[in-house]
Amino acid sequence: MGTYAVTGSASGMGAAVVARLVADGHTVIGVDLKDADVVADLSTPDGRRTAAAAVLDRAGGVLDGAVLAAGLGPAPGRDRARLIAEVNYLGVVELLDAWRPALAAAQRAKVVVFSSNSTTTMPMVPRRAVRALLERDVPKALGSLRRFGRMAPSFAYGASKIAVSQWVRREAVTPQWAGAGIRLNAIAPGAILTPLLEQQLATPAEAKRIRAFPVPIGGFGDAGQLAAWVVFMLSDAADFLCGSVVFVDGGSDAWFRAGDWPRPVPAVRLRGYLRRMKEFRALR
Ligand code: NAD
Repeated sequence: MGTYAVTGSASGMGAAVVARLVADGHTVIGVDLKDADVVADLSTPDGRRTAAAAVLDRAGGVLDGAVLAAGLGPAPGRDRARLIAEVNYLGVVELLDAWRPALAAAQRAKVVVFSSNSTTTMPMVPRRAVRALLERDVPKALGSLRRFGRMAPSFAYGASKIAVSQWVRREAVTPQWAGAGIRLNAIAPGAILTPLLEQQLATPAEAKRIRAFPVPIGGFGDAGQLAAWVVFMLSDAADFLCGSVVFVDGGSDAWFRAGDWPRPVPAVRLRGYLRRMKEFRALR
Protein backbone atom coordinates (compact mmCIF):
# COMPACT_ATOMS: atom_id res chain seq x y z
CA MET A 1 0.00 0.00 0.00
CA GLY A 2 1.26 3.46 -0.83
CA THR A 3 1.19 7.04 0.38
CA TYR A 4 -0.40 9.58 -1.97
CA ALA A 5 -0.76 13.35 -1.82
CA VAL A 6 -3.98 14.73 -3.31
CA THR A 7 -4.64 18.46 -3.67
CA GLY A 8 -8.24 19.62 -4.00
CA SER A 9 -9.11 16.64 -1.81
CA ALA A 10 -12.23 18.15 -0.23
CA SER A 11 -14.48 18.30 -3.28
CA GLY A 12 -15.36 17.00 -6.73
CA MET A 13 -12.85 14.83 -8.58
CA GLY A 14 -10.12 15.23 -5.93
CA ALA A 15 -12.50 13.91 -3.25
CA ALA A 16 -13.55 11.05 -5.56
CA VAL A 17 -9.87 10.10 -6.05
CA VAL A 18 -9.32 10.16 -2.27
CA ALA A 19 -12.35 7.88 -1.73
CA ARG A 20 -11.02 5.32 -4.22
CA LEU A 21 -7.45 5.35 -2.87
CA VAL A 22 -8.65 4.99 0.72
CA ALA A 23 -11.02 2.16 -0.29
CA ASP A 24 -8.02 0.40 -1.86
CA GLY A 25 -6.16 0.66 1.47
CA HIS A 26 -3.71 3.47 0.63
CA THR A 27 -2.73 6.35 2.90
CA VAL A 28 -3.82 9.70 1.53
CA ILE A 29 -2.63 13.14 2.54
CA GLY A 30 -5.27 15.59 1.37
CA VAL A 31 -4.56 19.28 0.76
CA ASP A 32 -7.36 21.82 0.50
CA LEU A 33 -8.69 25.13 1.80
CA LYS A 34 -10.70 23.23 4.44
CA ASP A 35 -11.69 19.68 5.48
CA ALA A 36 -8.23 18.32 4.63
CA ASP A 37 -5.20 16.80 6.39
CA VAL A 38 -3.20 19.81 5.27
CA VAL A 39 -5.22 23.02 5.22
CA ALA A 40 -3.48 25.53 2.96
CA ASP A 41 -4.27 28.24 0.45
CA LEU A 42 -2.50 27.37 -2.80
CA SER A 43 -3.17 30.85 -4.21
CA THR A 44 -0.30 32.31 -2.14
CA PRO A 45 3.45 31.55 -2.21
CA ASP A 46 3.38 31.01 1.55
CA GLY A 47 0.40 28.64 1.31
CA ARG A 48 2.14 26.60 -1.38
CA ARG A 49 5.36 26.40 0.66
CA THR A 50 3.48 25.38 3.80
CA ALA A 51 1.44 22.76 1.93
CA ALA A 52 4.50 21.25 0.24
CA ALA A 53 6.44 21.02 3.52
CA ALA A 54 3.51 19.67 5.58
CA VAL A 55 2.89 16.87 3.06
CA LEU A 56 6.57 15.86 3.05
CA ASP A 57 6.58 15.86 6.82
CA ARG A 58 3.50 13.60 7.02
CA ALA A 59 4.80 11.30 4.26
CA GLY A 60 8.16 10.84 5.97
CA GLY A 61 9.97 11.93 2.81
CA VAL A 62 8.60 9.17 0.53
CA LEU A 63 5.58 9.63 -1.77
CA ASP A 64 4.26 6.83 -4.00
CA GLY A 65 2.21 9.27 -5.97
CA ALA A 66 0.51 12.64 -6.20
CA VAL A 67 -2.69 13.92 -7.75
CA LEU A 68 -2.90 17.67 -8.40
CA ALA A 69 -6.64 18.35 -8.58
CA ALA A 70 -6.98 21.69 -6.76
CA GLY A 71 -8.25 24.20 -9.24
CA LEU A 72 -10.55 27.13 -9.84
CA GLY A 73 -12.97 27.50 -12.74
CA PRO A 74 -13.54 30.63 -14.82
CA ALA A 75 -16.08 32.47 -12.61
CA PRO A 76 -16.51 36.26 -12.68
CA GLY A 77 -14.60 38.45 -10.21
CA ARG A 78 -11.89 41.09 -10.17
CA ASP A 79 -9.18 38.89 -8.72
CA ARG A 80 -10.33 35.66 -10.31
CA ALA A 81 -7.81 35.55 -13.17
CA ARG A 82 -4.92 35.89 -10.71
CA LEU A 83 -6.33 33.20 -8.42
CA ILE A 84 -6.71 30.85 -11.39
CA ALA A 85 -3.11 31.42 -12.49
CA GLU A 86 -1.76 30.93 -8.96
CA VAL A 87 -3.77 27.82 -8.04
CA ASN A 88 -4.08 26.04 -11.39
CA TYR A 89 -0.49 26.61 -12.50
CA LEU A 90 1.82 27.54 -9.59
CA GLY A 91 -0.22 25.32 -7.25
CA VAL A 92 0.88 22.39 -9.41
CA VAL A 93 4.44 23.15 -10.46
CA GLU A 94 5.74 24.55 -7.15
CA LEU A 95 4.34 21.61 -5.19
CA LEU A 96 5.74 19.08 -7.65
CA ASP A 97 9.16 20.79 -7.56
CA ALA A 98 9.15 20.31 -3.80
CA TRP A 99 7.81 16.75 -3.87
CA ARG A 100 10.04 15.41 -6.66
CA PRO A 101 12.78 14.01 -4.36
CA ALA A 102 10.15 12.21 -2.24
CA LEU A 103 8.55 10.80 -5.41
CA ALA A 104 11.95 9.67 -6.68
CA ALA A 105 12.59 7.98 -3.32
CA ALA A 106 9.58 5.69 -3.94
CA GLN A 107 11.26 4.54 -7.19
CA ARG A 108 8.04 3.82 -9.19
CA ALA A 109 5.97 6.86 -8.30
CA LYS A 110 3.11 8.15 -10.46
CA VAL A 111 1.82 11.72 -10.74
CA VAL A 112 -1.44 12.82 -12.32
CA VAL A 113 -2.07 16.52 -12.97
CA PHE A 114 -5.55 17.84 -13.76
CA SER A 115 -5.57 19.62 -17.08
CA SER A 116 -8.78 20.25 -19.07
CA ASN A 117 -10.11 19.82 -22.57
CA SER A 118 -10.31 23.62 -22.70
CA THR A 119 -6.61 23.33 -23.68
CA THR A 120 -7.63 22.27 -27.19
CA THR A 121 -11.24 23.40 -27.52
CA MET A 122 -11.01 27.02 -26.34
CA PRO A 123 -10.00 29.39 -29.15
CA MET A 124 -7.83 32.52 -28.87
CA VAL A 125 -5.97 31.81 -25.63
CA PRO A 126 -2.97 34.17 -25.98
CA ARG A 127 0.36 32.38 -26.34
CA ARG A 128 1.98 35.21 -24.42
CA ALA A 129 -0.04 34.32 -21.33
CA VAL A 130 0.96 30.66 -21.63
CA ARG A 131 4.63 31.60 -22.06
CA ALA A 132 4.50 33.96 -19.08
CA LEU A 133 3.03 31.22 -16.89
CA LEU A 134 5.73 28.79 -18.01
CA GLU A 135 8.19 31.50 -16.87
CA ARG A 136 6.21 31.60 -13.58
CA ASP A 137 5.50 35.30 -14.13
CA VAL A 138 1.86 35.71 -13.10
CA PRO A 139 1.73 39.57 -13.39
CA LYS A 140 3.04 39.31 -16.98
CA ALA A 141 0.42 36.66 -17.80
CA LEU A 142 -2.34 38.83 -16.31
CA GLY A 143 -1.06 41.81 -18.32
CA SER A 144 -1.58 39.92 -21.57
CA LEU A 145 -5.13 38.96 -20.50
CA ARG A 146 -6.24 42.47 -19.48
CA ARG A 147 -7.71 43.24 -22.91
CA PHE A 148 -10.28 40.47 -22.42
CA GLY A 149 -11.99 42.51 -19.64
CA ARG A 150 -14.77 40.52 -17.95
CA MET A 151 -13.76 37.44 -19.97
CA ALA A 152 -10.20 37.46 -18.56
CA PRO A 153 -10.90 34.61 -16.07
CA SER A 154 -11.98 32.30 -18.91
CA PHE A 155 -8.77 32.96 -20.83
CA ALA A 156 -6.72 32.69 -17.63
CA TYR A 157 -8.29 29.27 -17.14
CA GLY A 158 -7.42 28.16 -20.69
CA ALA A 159 -3.88 29.55 -20.36
CA SER A 160 -3.34 27.90 -16.95
CA LYS A 161 -4.35 24.49 -18.27
CA ILE A 162 -2.30 24.78 -21.48
CA ALA A 163 0.75 25.89 -19.46
CA VAL A 164 0.39 23.12 -16.91
CA SER A 165 -0.03 20.49 -19.67
CA GLN A 166 3.05 21.77 -21.52
CA TRP A 167 4.99 21.78 -18.26
CA VAL A 168 3.96 18.15 -17.66
CA ARG A 169 5.04 17.08 -21.15
CA ARG A 170 8.37 18.93 -20.97
CA GLU A 171 9.31 17.70 -17.51
CA ALA A 172 7.97 14.14 -17.75
CA VAL A 173 10.61 13.05 -20.26
CA THR A 174 13.65 14.48 -18.47
CA PRO A 175 16.21 12.59 -16.39
CA GLN A 176 14.82 14.36 -13.29
CA TRP A 177 11.40 12.74 -13.78
CA ALA A 178 11.44 9.81 -16.24
CA GLY A 179 15.03 9.04 -15.28
CA ALA A 180 14.15 9.05 -11.58
CA GLY A 181 11.40 6.47 -12.09
CA ILE A 182 8.55 8.99 -11.76
CA ARG A 183 5.74 8.79 -14.29
CA LEU A 184 4.25 12.25 -14.83
CA ASN A 185 1.03 12.54 -16.85
CA ALA A 186 -2.07 14.71 -17.12
CA ILE A 187 -5.77 14.03 -17.44
CA ALA A 188 -7.92 16.41 -19.48
CA PRO A 189 -11.57 16.13 -18.49
CA GLY A 190 -14.45 17.72 -20.34
CA ALA A 191 -17.45 19.07 -18.41
CA ILE A 192 -17.75 16.92 -15.28
CA LEU A 193 -20.63 17.51 -12.88
CA THR A 194 -18.80 18.72 -9.76
CA PRO A 195 -19.22 21.82 -7.54
CA LEU A 196 -16.83 23.65 -9.93
CA LEU A 197 -19.15 23.06 -12.90
CA GLU A 198 -22.26 23.71 -10.76
CA GLN A 199 -20.81 27.13 -9.89
CA GLN A 200 -20.41 27.88 -13.61
CA LEU A 201 -23.93 26.62 -14.34
CA ALA A 202 -25.28 29.04 -11.72
CA THR A 203 -24.47 32.00 -14.02
CA PRO A 204 -27.21 31.99 -16.72
CA ALA A 205 -24.99 33.20 -19.59
CA GLU A 206 -22.29 30.72 -18.67
CA ALA A 207 -24.85 27.90 -18.30
CA LYS A 208 -26.17 28.64 -21.80
CA ARG A 209 -22.65 28.54 -23.22
CA ILE A 210 -21.79 25.29 -21.45
CA ARG A 211 -25.00 23.54 -22.53
CA ALA A 212 -24.50 24.65 -26.14
CA PHE A 213 -20.95 23.27 -26.25
CA PRO A 214 -20.57 20.17 -28.51
CA VAL A 215 -20.29 16.94 -26.48
CA PRO A 216 -20.79 14.08 -28.97
CA ILE A 217 -21.89 11.56 -26.33
CA GLY A 218 -24.09 14.18 -24.61
CA GLY A 219 -24.50 15.33 -21.00
CA PHE A 220 -21.84 15.76 -18.34
CA GLY A 221 -19.11 13.42 -17.07
CA ASP A 222 -19.17 11.71 -13.68
CA ALA A 223 -16.55 12.50 -10.98
CA GLY A 224 -16.36 8.84 -9.87
CA GLN A 225 -15.55 7.69 -13.40
CA LEU A 226 -12.82 10.32 -13.76
CA ALA A 227 -11.38 9.18 -10.41
CA ALA A 228 -11.23 5.63 -11.78
CA TRP A 229 -9.11 6.90 -14.71
CA VAL A 230 -6.80 8.72 -12.29
CA VAL A 231 -6.37 5.64 -10.08
CA PHE A 232 -5.56 3.62 -13.22
CA MET A 233 -2.93 6.24 -14.13
CA LEU A 234 -1.44 5.78 -10.63
CA SER A 235 -1.27 2.00 -11.01
CA ASP A 236 1.44 -0.29 -12.43
CA ALA A 237 -0.51 -0.18 -15.70
CA ALA A 238 0.98 3.31 -16.13
CA ASP A 239 4.63 2.19 -15.91
CA PHE A 240 5.01 2.96 -19.65
CA LEU A 241 2.83 6.09 -19.65
CA CYS A 242 5.00 9.23 -19.73
CA GLY A 243 4.11 12.81 -20.63
CA SER A 244 0.64 11.87 -21.90
CA VAL A 245 -2.44 14.05 -21.69
CA VAL A 246 -5.39 11.69 -21.47
CA PHE A 247 -8.63 13.25 -22.72
CA VAL A 248 -11.82 11.99 -21.05
CA ASP A 249 -14.28 14.50 -22.47
CA GLY A 250 -17.19 12.84 -24.22
CA GLY A 251 -15.61 13.49 -27.62
CA SER A 252 -15.45 17.33 -27.69
CA ASP A 253 -11.72 17.45 -28.46
CA ALA A 254 -12.15 14.91 -31.28
CA TRP A 255 -15.13 16.91 -32.59
CA PHE A 256 -13.07 20.09 -33.00
CA ARG A 257 -9.54 18.79 -33.56
CA ALA A 258 -9.68 15.33 -35.21
CA GLY A 259 -7.20 16.39 -37.91
CA ASP A 260 -4.79 18.24 -35.62
CA TRP A 261 -3.20 15.27 -33.87
CA PRO A 262 -1.71 12.82 -34.70
CA ARG A 263 -0.34 14.40 -37.87
CA PRO A 264 2.89 13.92 -39.85
CA VAL A 265 5.96 15.92 -38.82
CA PRO A 266 6.36 18.47 -41.66
CA ALA A 267 9.70 18.97 -43.47
CA VAL A 268 10.16 22.42 -41.86
CA ARG A 269 10.40 20.73 -38.47
CA LEU A 270 12.94 18.12 -39.52
CA ARG A 271 15.91 20.06 -38.21
CA GLY A 272 14.36 20.42 -34.75
CA TYR A 273 13.35 16.78 -34.81
CA LEU A 274 16.93 15.67 -35.57
CA ARG A 275 18.22 17.99 -32.84
CA ARG A 276 15.99 16.21 -30.31
CA MET A 277 17.33 12.84 -31.51
CA LYS A 278 20.86 14.09 -30.84
CA GLU A 279 19.98 15.54 -27.45
CA PHE A 280 18.49 12.20 -26.45
CA ARG A 281 21.59 10.28 -27.49
CA ALA A 282 23.72 12.68 -25.44
CA LEU A 283 21.74 11.77 -22.32
CA ARG A 284 22.50 8.04 -22.60
P1 NAD B 1 -14.13 21.29 -7.31
O1 NAD B 1 -14.43 22.74 -7.18
O2 NAD B 1 -15.19 20.32 -6.92
O3 NAD B 1 -12.81 20.94 -6.46
C1 NAD B 1 -11.67 21.73 -6.53
C2 NAD B 1 -11.03 21.77 -5.15
O4 NAD B 1 -9.90 22.65 -5.23
C3 NAD B 1 -11.96 22.31 -4.05
O5 NAD B 1 -12.02 21.42 -2.95
C4 NAD B 1 -11.32 23.63 -3.68
O6 NAD B 1 -11.48 23.98 -2.31
C5 NAD B 1 -9.85 23.37 -4.03
N1 NAD B 1 -9.18 24.65 -4.15
C6 NAD B 1 -9.57 25.74 -4.89
N2 NAD B 1 -8.78 26.78 -4.62
C7 NAD B 1 -7.87 26.37 -3.72
C8 NAD B 1 -6.80 27.00 -3.05
N3 NAD B 1 -6.53 28.31 -3.23
N4 NAD B 1 -6.06 26.28 -2.19
C9 NAD B 1 -6.33 24.96 -1.97
N5 NAD B 1 -7.34 24.32 -2.57
C10 NAD B 1 -8.10 25.01 -3.42
O7 NAD B 1 -13.63 21.08 -8.78
P2 NAD B 1 -13.45 19.79 -9.74
O8 NAD B 1 -14.41 19.96 -10.83
O9 NAD B 1 -13.40 18.54 -8.96
O10 NAD B 1 -12.02 20.15 -10.36
C11 NAD B 1 -10.85 19.37 -10.14
C12 NAD B 1 -9.84 19.76 -11.20
O11 NAD B 1 -10.35 19.37 -12.49
C13 NAD B 1 -9.56 21.25 -11.30
O12 NAD B 1 -8.17 21.44 -11.54
C14 NAD B 1 -10.35 21.68 -12.52
O13 NAD B 1 -9.80 22.80 -13.16
C15 NAD B 1 -10.27 20.44 -13.38
N6 NAD B 1 -11.34 20.33 -14.38
C16 NAD B 1 -12.65 20.31 -14.01
C17 NAD B 1 -13.63 20.16 -14.98
C18 NAD B 1 -15.10 20.09 -14.64
O14 NAD B 1 -15.93 20.17 -15.54
N7 NAD B 1 -15.49 19.94 -13.39
C19 NAD B 1 -13.27 20.06 -16.32
C20 NAD B 1 -11.93 20.08 -16.67
C21 NAD B 1 -10.96 20.21 -15.69
